[in-house]
Amino acid sequence: MSFEEKSIQCSDCGTSFTFSVEEQEFFASKGYTNEPKRCPACREARKSARYGNGGYSSGSRRQMFPAVCAQCGKETEVPFEPREGRPVYCSDCYSRVRVNK
Ligand SMILES: [Zn+2]
Ligand SMILES: [Zn+2]
Repeated sequence: MSFEEKSIQCSDCGTSFTFSVEEQEFFASKGYTNEPKRCPACREARKSARYGNGGYSSGSRRQMFPAVCAQCGKETEVPFEPREGRPVYCSDCYSRVRVNK
């Protein structure tokens, strides 16, 4: 299989960019059959935009479990499943407990 450099026009900004032989080989090795539609700059921009908006605000990545603080009895949420026999602390008490140890 041999590849040739291709010139592709970015569907986002209209700039022509080179789809290099190395990239085509990389695409082929990944099993991709489609050519890239966007220039590297626009691809980067889209990637960072997705990470910037999603993640933290949506909260879908990290599941939080409701728990009651063993120290002050306040309801809190922890990023792990509370186990019986293991005290869970709210963020206030947790920092205090840690310091006292
Ligand atoms: Zn572009
Ligand atoms: Zn507490």
